[in-house]
This record gives sequence, C-alpha cells and structure tokens, in this order.
Amino acid sequence: MTLSINTPCIESRPLSSAAERSVFVKLDALQPSGSFKIRGIGLLCEEHASRGAQRFISSSGGNAGLAVAYAGRMLKVPVVVVVPESTTSRAKEMIRRENAEVITHGVSWQEANELALSMVTEQDAFLHPFDHPRIWSGHATVIDEVVQAGIRPQAVITCVGGGGLLCGVVEGLRRNGLAHVPVVAVETTGADSLHQSLHAGERIELPAITSIATSLGAKKVAEQAFAYTKEHDIRSVVVSDAQAVRACLRFIDDHRIVLEPACGAALAVAYEKDPALLGFDSVLVIACGGVTTTPRQLEEYAQKLGA
Ligand SMILES: *Cc1c(COP(=O)(O)O)cnc(C)c1O
Repeated sequence: MTLSINTPCIESRPLSSAAERSVFVKLDALQPSGSFKIRGIGLLCEEHASRGAQRFISSSGGNAGLAVAYAGRMLKVPVVVVVPESTTSRAKEMIRRENAEVITHGVSWQEANELALSMVTEQDAFLHPFDHPRIWSGHATVIDEVVQAGIRPQAVITCVGGGGLLCGVVEGLRRNGLAHVPVVAVETTGADSLHQSLHAGERIELPAITSIATSLGAKKVAEQAFAYTKEHDIRSVVVSDAQAVRACLRFIDDHRIVLEPACGAALAVAYEKDPALLGFDSVLVIACGGVTTTPRQLEEYAQKLGA
C-alpha cells in the first residue's frame, strides 16, 4: 500500500508567462493529507506498522501531524498528536477528523515535543516531522513521478523548513540520474535557517522564528540538508512574508488552489522572476501544501503586511 498519490504536474501558463520560461507545478497540495508530507511520513508509518507499532506519536500541529493522523487511520494504528497552545483550532479539528487524539500542551513546540517524547513506550513509534532517512526516501517519490511523466526541468524550486523535502528532492534527482540538476532552496526572512547556515559556513540555530510561514519554522535544518549543500548545486534564496503571501493570492486566482505562505515562498521565485532562475528554460516548482490555510487568512496577512 502507498499512502500518497501520484499528484498532477501541470505546465502553468500564468507562472510561465510571469517567469518568462516554462514553469511546471507539482500539485502536492492535492495529497490526501493536504501536503507532500504524507510521502515520507506515510512510508515510515507503513514500516513502523509492519514491524508491529501499536501507536504513532507526533508533536506537529501542522502538516506533519496531519500526515501521521491520516497514515494512522489508513493503517488502523491509533495516533496521538501533542500540539502547543499556538496551534489553531482549525488545525486541531482537521487532525481530530482523522480520528487522532489531540493533546494541547505548552506554549511552544519544544514543550509539546517534550511531552510527546515522554509518552513514547516500546510499543509506540515517534514520527519526527523531517529528520529521518526513510522520510527523505519517501519524499523523493515527488521527483520519481515528475520523471515518469516525461518532464525534465532544468532546475527544481522548493521551499525549506527543516530540510526534509529538500533532502527528498536531492535524493529523487540522484536516483533518477539527474544529480546535475540544481535546486533553488527558498526560505522566508525570519525562517531562513539554511540561508544563515550557508552564510556562517556551519549549521546554525536561529534564536527565534519570526516569519508567518510556520511550516518553514525549524530553527535548525537537518544535518543532511546542510551536508547536501556541499555535494549538490543548491542555491539559497530568501523572500519576504509579503512576497510569499502575494504569490499565494495570485496562485488562487490563477489555479483555484489554496497554498500556505511556506509554499508561496517557492512560488514567489517564479512569479517574480528571481535572478536565481537565470539560465534555466524550464523549472519545476513544488506546490507542497496549504490545508490549514484559508483565503481569508491570506487576505488578512496581505493587509497586515501591505502585500
Ligand atoms: C513541512 C512543510 C514544509 C517544510 O518542509 P521541510 O521538510 O521541513 O523542509 C514546507 N511547506 C509545507 C506546506 C510543509 O508542510
């Protein structure tokens, strides 16, 4: 069984005309859990279930928690998701709708994560949101599908939080003989842990996350993500929250699909013809998700940010 689906990959006319080159969009927001996360997390949950895990435990109030909840329901394994108080009632409701138990604990993810870890017994499996090799192997299927569809982009644009998706994209390119294809790795100001690490020449931890792109809010990227920047052509780009939100609103008008600001960051690079695209005739953007966002929330952000 595979819990993720083969999502459509379309050549976007509006994005192509804005970027003045072919822009393909991999619509992973259409995954059953609402984001690409089900690829890797689904694979890891399946492996844990086949090894007899009695319960899945997660500490993400976002797309990772939703992916674990969805996987648990499909695999008939009970799920507990511990989320911090900052998690929206909408997100909690969506996780509960997947029959998972939601426990609200602590002001930040750190406290929620501590409680989640303290609950893990030998019969349980703990699912990290991004830092696991099997998660990256699962995420890599996003590139397998693009290649199987006969699409050969000259560069891949993806956003970066903890770097799980980035590791998956690089692994996917490598296992399809495309190790030479550059990756444009996009973050927002205030969630730019990869960019700051590259600047410092070592993997750094941000003191705080100040971006509204909560899914990019890992203070420190996975070790493998940083290691890949030395082995693969990875070009780091940082955009503002306003640029990310504007891209989401444009994408709704253009494609009738709601994405969250994390994902808008990657789209902004194409919409705004970022210099990082120079020299590429065709690019692939991964439209990674946005199920906890609403058009109204995006409009409110836009007003606040003057986007
Ligand atoms: C998780 C997530 C990200 C960040 O992915 P990482 O693997 O942590 O880099 C970006 N966008 C969306 C929609 C996500 O769910």
